[in-house]
Amino acid sequence: MHCPDCAKSMIILEYAEIELDFCPRCKGCWLDEGELEQIIGDPEAALDLFDWKGGRVGKRRCPRCLDKLHVVQLPAQGPEVDVCPQACGMWFDEGELRAAIRAQLPEEQAAGIVKALNEMFGGEKNG
Ligand SMILES: [Zn+2]
Ligand SMILES: [Zn+2]
Repeated sequence: MHCPDCAKSMIILEYAEIELDFCPRCKGCWLDEGELEQIIGDPEAALDLFDWKGGRVGKRRCPRCLDKLHVVQLPAQGPEVDVCPQACGMWFDEGELRAAIRAQLPEEQAAGIVKALNEMFGGEKNG
Protein backbone atom coordinates (compact mmCIF):
# COMPACT_ATOMS: atom_id res chain seq x y z
CA MET A 1 0.00 0.00 0.00
CA HIS A 2 1.27 3.48 -0.80
CA CYS A 3 1.49 6.53 1.43
CA PRO A 4 -1.34 9.01 0.67
CA ASP A 5 1.08 11.88 1.26
CA CYS A 6 4.36 11.01 -0.50
CA ALA A 7 3.34 7.82 -2.40
CA LYS A 8 6.23 5.76 -0.99
CA SER A 9 5.50 2.13 -0.10
CA MET A 10 4.46 1.85 3.50
CA ILE A 11 5.76 -0.74 5.94
CA ILE A 12 3.68 -2.72 8.40
CA LEU A 13 4.37 -2.23 12.11
CA GLU A 14 2.68 -4.25 14.81
CA TYR A 15 1.29 -2.67 17.92
CA ALA A 16 -0.68 -4.85 20.37
CA GLU A 17 -1.55 -7.27 17.55
CA ILE A 18 -2.77 -4.43 15.35
CA GLU A 19 -1.05 -3.93 12.01
CA LEU A 20 -0.33 -0.27 11.32
CA ASP A 21 0.81 0.95 7.92
CA PHE A 22 3.68 3.36 8.50
CA CYS A 23 5.46 5.57 5.96
CA PRO A 24 9.22 5.50 6.60
CA ARG A 25 9.69 8.70 4.59
CA CYS A 26 7.13 11.12 6.04
CA LYS A 27 6.48 9.12 9.23
CA GLY A 28 2.72 9.28 8.98
CA CYS A 29 0.56 6.22 9.53
CA TRP A 30 -2.63 4.71 8.18
CA LEU A 31 -5.16 2.96 10.41
CA ASP A 32 -7.87 0.74 8.94
CA GLU A 33 -11.38 1.16 10.25
CA GLY A 34 -11.62 -0.03 13.85
CA GLU A 35 -7.88 0.04 14.54
CA LEU A 36 -7.96 3.36 16.36
CA GLU A 37 -10.60 1.90 18.67
CA GLN A 38 -8.33 -1.09 19.32
CA ILE A 39 -5.34 1.12 20.11
CA ILE A 40 -7.37 3.26 22.48
CA GLY A 41 -8.89 0.11 23.99
CA ASP A 42 -12.28 1.74 24.44
CA PRO A 43 -14.64 1.15 21.50
CA GLU A 44 -17.38 3.40 22.86
CA ALA A 45 -15.11 6.39 23.45
CA ALA A 46 -13.58 5.99 20.03
CA LEU A 47 -16.96 6.00 18.29
CA ASP A 48 -17.20 9.70 19.09
CA LEU A 49 -13.78 10.43 17.65
CA PHE A 50 -14.89 11.31 14.18
CA ASP A 51 -17.79 11.51 11.84
CA TRP A 52 -17.20 9.63 8.60
CA LYS A 53 -19.42 12.04 6.67
CA GLY A 54 -18.04 15.20 8.27
CA GLY A 55 -15.18 17.44 7.32
CA ARG A 56 -14.18 18.89 3.96
CA VAL A 57 -12.84 17.14 0.89
CA GLY A 58 -9.05 17.16 0.94
CA LYS A 59 -6.35 16.59 -1.69
CA ARG A 60 -5.04 13.21 -0.62
CA ARG A 61 -6.51 9.91 -1.73
CA CYS A 62 -7.38 6.84 0.29
CA PRO A 63 -4.64 4.21 -0.17
CA ARG A 64 -7.31 1.49 -0.27
CA CYS A 65 -10.19 2.77 -2.45
CA LEU A 66 -8.50 5.87 -3.96
CA ASP A 67 -11.47 8.08 -3.06
CA LYS A 68 -10.52 11.57 -1.86
CA LEU A 69 -9.96 11.70 1.88
CA HIS A 70 -11.97 14.14 3.97
CA VAL A 71 -10.22 16.41 6.45
CA VAL A 72 -11.91 15.97 9.82
CA GLN A 73 -11.23 17.88 13.02
CA LEU A 74 -11.08 15.53 15.98
CA PRO A 75 -12.86 16.65 19.16
CA ALA A 76 -11.22 17.70 22.43
CA GLN A 77 -8.61 19.85 20.63
CA GLY A 78 -7.40 16.83 18.73
CA PRO A 79 -5.61 17.21 15.40
CA GLU A 80 -7.18 17.37 11.94
CA VAL A 81 -6.92 13.96 10.29
CA ASP A 82 -7.71 12.57 6.84
CA VAL A 83 -10.64 10.16 6.87
CA CYS A 84 -11.89 7.99 4.01
CA PRO A 85 -15.57 8.75 3.23
CA GLN A 86 -15.99 5.04 2.38
CA ALA A 87 -14.83 4.22 5.92
CA CYS A 88 -11.69 2.37 4.85
CA GLY A 89 -9.75 4.09 7.59
CA MET A 90 -7.81 7.26 8.34
CA TRP A 91 -4.44 8.89 7.84
CA PHE A 92 -2.37 10.55 10.53
CA ASP A 93 0.57 12.81 9.70
CA GLU A 94 3.68 12.55 11.88
CA GLY A 95 2.70 13.13 15.52
CA GLU A 96 -1.05 13.30 14.84
CA LEU A 97 -1.88 9.80 16.08
CA ARG A 98 -0.14 10.54 19.37
CA ALA A 99 -1.88 13.93 19.58
CA ALA A 100 -5.24 12.23 19.00
CA ILE A 101 -4.54 9.67 21.73
CA ARG A 102 -3.51 12.42 24.17
CA ALA A 103 -6.67 14.38 23.36
CA GLN A 104 -8.88 11.36 23.88
CA LEU A 105 -7.47 9.55 26.91
CA PRO A 106 -6.57 10.49 30.48
CA GLU A 107 -2.90 11.51 30.72
CA GLU A 108 -1.60 8.39 32.45
CA GLN A 109 -3.34 6.03 30.04
CA ALA A 110 -2.21 8.04 27.01
CA ALA A 111 1.40 8.16 28.21
CA GLY A 112 1.86 4.37 28.00
CA ILE A 113 0.49 4.17 24.45
CA VAL A 114 2.46 7.24 23.30
CA LYS A 115 5.67 5.75 24.71
CA ALA A 116 5.14 2.50 22.82
CA LEU A 117 4.37 4.39 19.60
CA ASN A 118 7.47 6.56 20.03
CA GLU A 119 9.60 3.43 20.23
CA MET A 120 7.98 2.04 17.08
CA PHE A 121 7.96 5.24 15.04
CA GLY A 122 11.36 6.44 16.19
CA GLY A 123 10.65 9.46 18.36
CA GLU A 124 8.40 12.43 18.01
CA LYS A 125 9.14 15.99 17.00
CA ASN A 126 7.71 18.85 19.03
CA GLY A 127 7.55 16.77 22.23
ZN1 LIG B 1 4.84 9.23 3.12
ZN1 LIG C 1 -11.15 4.37 1.14
